Amino acid sequence: VAAVGAVPATAGSSVAYTDARAPIDLRVKDLLKRMTLEEKIGQMDQIAVARVQGDCEWSGGALNETCMKSVLGDYAAGSILSGGGMGPAVNTPAEWAKMVNTVQKYAVDNSRLHIPVLYGVDAVHGHNNVLGATVFPHQIGLGATWDPATVQAAGASTARSVAATGIDWNFAPVADLARDQRWGRYYETFGEDPLLAGTLAAASVTGIDTANGAKHVVATVKHFGGYSEPANGHDRVPADVSMRYLQDTLLPSYKQAVQAGAKTVMVNSGAINGVPATSSKYLLTKVLRDQWGFKGVTVSDWEDVRALQTKYKLAADYPEAIALAVNAGLDMAMEPYFAKEWSTGLKTAVDRGLVSVKRIDESAGRILRMKFELGLFEHPYVDAAKADAAVLGADKDLARKAAAESQVLLRNDGGVLPISPTAKKIVVAGSYADDINDQAGGWTIGWQGVPEGVTLPGTTVLAGIKEAAPAGTEVVRATTAADAVAQAADADLTVVVVGEKAAAEGAADSPRPELSADQQALVKALKAAGKPVVTVVIAGRPLALGDADGTQGLLMSWLPGSEGGHGIADVLFGAVNPSGRLPVSWPKHIGNEPLYYQQLPGTNGGPESSYDAAYPFGAGLSYTTYAFGAITADKAVVRAGDPVGVKVTVSNTGAKAGDLVVPVYVSRPTSDVLTPATRLVAFTKVHLAAGETRTVRLQVSPGTLAVTPGDLDGAGAQKVERGAYTFSAGDKSAAVTVR
Ligand code: BGC
Repeated sequence: VAAVGAVPATAGSSVAYTDARAPIDLRVKDLLKRMTLEEKIGQMDQIAVARVQGDCEWSGGALNETCMKSVLGDYAAGSILSGGGMGPAVNTPAEWAKMVNTVQKYAVDNSRLHIPVLYGVDAVHGHNNVLGATVFPHQIGLGATWDPATVQAAGASTARSVAATGIDWNFAPVADLARDQRWGRYYETFGEDPLLAGTLAAASVTGIDTANGAKHVVATVKHFGGYSEPANGHDRVPADVSMRYLQDTLLPSYKQAVQAGAKTVMVNSGAINGVPATSSKYLLTKVLRDQWGFKGVTVSDWEDVRALQTKYKLAADYPEAIALAVNAGLDMAMEPYFAKEWSTGLKTAVDRGLVSVKRIDESAGRILRMKFELGLFEHPYVDAAKADAAVLGADKDLARKAAAESQVLLRNDGGVLPISPTAKKIVVAGSYADDINDQAGGWTIGWQGVPEGVTLPGTTVLAGIKEAAPAGTEVVRATTAADAVAQAADADLTVVVVGEKAAAEGAADSPRPELSADQQALVKALKAAGKPVVTVVIAGRPLALGDADGTQGLLMSWLPGSEGGHGIADVLFGAVNPSGRLPVSWPKHIGNEPLYYQQLPGTNGGPESSYDAAYPFGAGLSYTTYAFGAITADKAVVRAGDPVGVKVTVSNTGAKAGDLVVPVYVSRPTSDVLTPATRLVAFTKVHLAAGETRTVRLQVSPGTLAVTPGDLDGAGAQKVERGAYTFSAGDKSAAVTVR
């Protein structure tokens, strides 16, 4: 479908910005020259779609021409977003495409210079707002795969669905870390480790950005930077962190994802060391642009420019707040409610001399450049008639594979799994066994999870087990604890599926990240019944198990999405050999939070050691056995700043083929400043046939080894310290000296 604006974008047009063949630099320059200050200011604003629906007052429903005229015409907003759950009245892919096309057409036809909008959405595990779209495991589950290829494929699949509904901007992936089990956004991350999270976020960026869909979709690295310090376990709490922790631990995952080519970055809502990220010139300009070379667009998180005035009390009024953010380097404000206030606010800031027009040209220019790069001027619309076919049930096999690969088998006493093909009777207990909505987690259809009255299309654990069970195996569903215990008496096995309710952001914060008392009681009663029990956990974080601890089988299934029931059954019955590894540490008790493996030396003391996890980072069993042979370094001595190559030999010593995660850790016999006792510095995943031995080569990048030197008053730039390093894989190690 071609552009419909009064100045259609055509090849060879005499107006440079509408000339599809003109260099983008020229098009941006030409367009900026034609724009009024107010129009440029409008480009920097992102408004929620709910603002142009119904009565323009957050009512949702049908698009309203009057509201669109105000937001897209009068105030010329450059971007529209559908935050969690904000969609068309009828939630099908075709209706989404029609809604987005309509918004787009309004902007193209009615803005003076016919500038299309960027439309953004949180498609954080598939195109999760759209009913019937395939829902992938949440990022924490993908983190457990330790498999960049799977993450990249999930990102590409998501982007194809997003593109088919006319949307060009995806607010994913999350490059934050999961270190505090109380934090409601724990499950939105790829785990606790900087390298694991950074590598998978980079793979997701690549997947989203290179997907070949109806449009190009840009990825967003969020929430930059250092969102992962939810002091006291709550979301969006000011953090106080040392420069060393910020540089060595909190920032590297964003850096990896940005350097994978992300075109946009969303800013952390929180404040670090007394400075909100939204007004931090250090983060938004010095680190992101000067040090990392980011050339794209930064967008604030929800209402965060206003928050500089209302929440953080750094500005006396809104124009001052805007000036703080824009001068720090922010390009676009997610200012979902207030198009007029943004427009007059930034104009006032210019009139007062707080913000320069040059600075506005820079941001508006970056935003327009992205629109040109996306081809939006030439192809603003999608074919809504193709959306249903493109989105409904797309890539279900991939989602099933991802769900199976994300399973982490933590206990398998007596080889209770895989379920024997000769089992006569399996009891399936626990409310999460048959709850497709909670299985998908928050950010699914609605912001806080699938709303009441809606059932997500997909496969529950119960349905997956029934489908996978061999003909001779009876599957009995027990819905009450008493029934479960009674049925277990003559069963071969009980699968009890426990978990936590879907929720998102602050509403998902939990001061007690443990299994609920009634679920503990159910598992305890099943254990007492004397037959083997396998516990399956559907949750966005490790839950302290309490009385539910100690069943023969324990499978962490995370929030596995719409195909989760199939993926889980694949592992339970052995069609898939589990290969997931914990991307986080599993605390023994509530009160152990925050818990992560990168403990500093000297943290021991008290009744428990500093790292006394129920299941440590990287834990995970399989149906075969593996052995680590030697690890050898390419060179015994390397120069500081050079990569370190290592070779690791691994064997499948069992009778079943499998995929093995091969992590390489580093530790230092001595160092100049405290560094974590051990750190992941490289990893890969290899397929090994039964009996196979292979040697894999991994490269440790110097950036991964760098740490921040300096005394209390002088943390400087990161550097690779000289001296001895020990690289280890499995139970083997190799010594390297850095000169
Ligand atoms: C979240 C972001 C999200 C945005 C738009 C915010 O509340 O922090 O992750 O992208 O809403 O929905």
